[in-house]
Amino acid sequence: MEQVLNYINGEMVPAVGGAWLNDHAPATGQVHAVIADSDERDVQRAVEAAQAALPGWQALGTEGRSALMMRVADLMQRDLEALARAESVDNGKPIALARRMDIPRAIANFRFFAGAVLHWDSEAHLMDDVALNYTDRQPVGVAGCISPWNLPLYLFTWKIAPALAAGCTVVAKPSEVTPFTAAMLGRLCIEAGLPPGVLNIVNGLGPKVGAAITAHPGIPAVSFTGGTRTGAEIARVAAPMFKKLSLELGGKNPVVIFADCDFDEMLRTTVRSAFTNQGQICLCGSRILVERSLYARFRDAFVERVNALRVGDPADPATDLGAVVSEAHMNKVLGHIALAREEGGTVLCGGHRVELDGHLRNGWYIAPTVIEGLGPACRTNQEEIFGPVVTLQPFDTEAEALSMANGTTYGLASVLWTNDLKRAHRMARGLHSGIVWVNCWLVRDLRTPFGGMKQSGVGREGGHEALRFFTEAKNVCIRL
Ligand code: NDP
Repeated sequence: MEQVLNYINGEMVPAVGGAWLNDHAPATGQVHAVIADSDERDVQRAVEAAQAALPGWQALGTEGRSALMMRVADLMQRDLEALARAESVDNGKPIALARRMDIPRAIANFRFFAGAVLHWDSEAHLMDDVALNYTDRQPVGVAGCISPWNLPLYLFTWKIAPALAAGCTVVAKPSEVTPFTAAMLGRLCIEAGLPPGVLNIVNGLGPKVGAAITAHPGIPAVSFTGGTRTGAEIARVAAPMFKKLSLELGGKNPVVIFADCDFDEMLRTTVRSAFTNQGQICLCGSRILVERSLYARFRDAFVERVNALRVGDPADPATDLGAVVSEAHMNKVLGHIALAREEGGTVLCGGHRVELDGHLRNGWYIAPTVIEGLGPACRTNQEEIFGPVVTLQPFDTEAEALSMANGTTYGLASVLWTNDLKRAHRMARGLHSGIVWVNCWLVRDLRTPFGGMKQSGVGREGGHEALRFFTEAKNVCIRL
């Protein structure tokens, strides 16, 4: 059985306590590896290694750090196929998606921040002939990075790459449900010659390892992506310690479709924005709001497309939806579908577990599910489901659409479909979300601010926002 080890101080090591957790392959429901079941002793070792590595990492200078990060990216590129296969096995996502999106984006994260930091300049403020101020941005020190299971290597690297580029050393924890590719990255860092202790990866359970990272006094900044409840717990522990916090949390994203949109383009993209990665992307649109004059046409065409999606073996390149990430998550999603029925919703398609044959018969598959007939206030339209489940609701006016779109506690992303330019601007301005896509979805420029409003998070990642997060700004004022 393959072992997923920790990467601490430049070495792949088991947990201090010698315990292991099982790592399941969602496609088959079988254990495919064991993971180091770490605790606060492993986090302590990682923090000590990261602290010891800080001066050397900073002494390398921006160019030296950038060059090493580029080398790691080159090795990820070399191993793209192996990483994609591992991601697909560990998470249950279609291999085609891992090849096309997850691993290329993980590589891009390293390349982007290795490049961005070379072009990052600091500000100077000249006060006539009185004084010159300049902003000295110094790395915060050891950064804690905690990431979720839905886009494992993609989101893991989205945090550690800017931290490393900014000159921090890192103690990171991938989700215990999908730790595999992070450990592969650890081995690539050794091969690339990353100095020991610069990046440390500690595997294990959130309440043990994640909590130890959050509470450790030697970690002054924590970047977290995950559920809103976990984010609140992290904030509760970290806030009294005055740690810097970046929290990227849950969502209940609206897709607002006006009758004047380009129908075919909208339909194609809305199927993607609903069901990519089995709906397990924080940016997926789960509440589809449709102008009433288009509603029936959209519903029929959408359901026809969704019925044609293939749920199957993640290893088959023709599969559209693979397995959801765990048995517990499958049961949670099926519970939400049952709740939608209780609330009076009509299931137009899907609504059940899919049982495949042969070695896949115990896998965790759910048919893509479309529900109508529920109002905006019910739990189904308020709570994050984070699976292949969407609801349809008609609206009559722009004001009603805006009020429905904004009517949840979340505010991560919104999608807007209209060819009316003025309306697009008006709606984009009025939507309470950190990201608004107009006539597209998941088009990502890594320079742009990324994050949510309300209970979808605090702070922004991406581009200079991320580099700012991992540094402290110091103003130096010199009398002229
Ligand atoms: P969780 O909040 O359960 O876990 C996220 C990470 O935090 C995991 O590594 C987890 O470890 C760890 N963790 C759990 N408990 C603690 C704790 N007490 N202290 C510190 N760390 C802890 O989220 P999921 O992994 O279930 O991910 C799904 C969620 O992530 C969804 O709500 C989704 O919306 C959100 N998300 C948000 C994104 C955004 O950019 N806003 C992007 C992607 C996902 P372990 O897995 O071992 O429990």
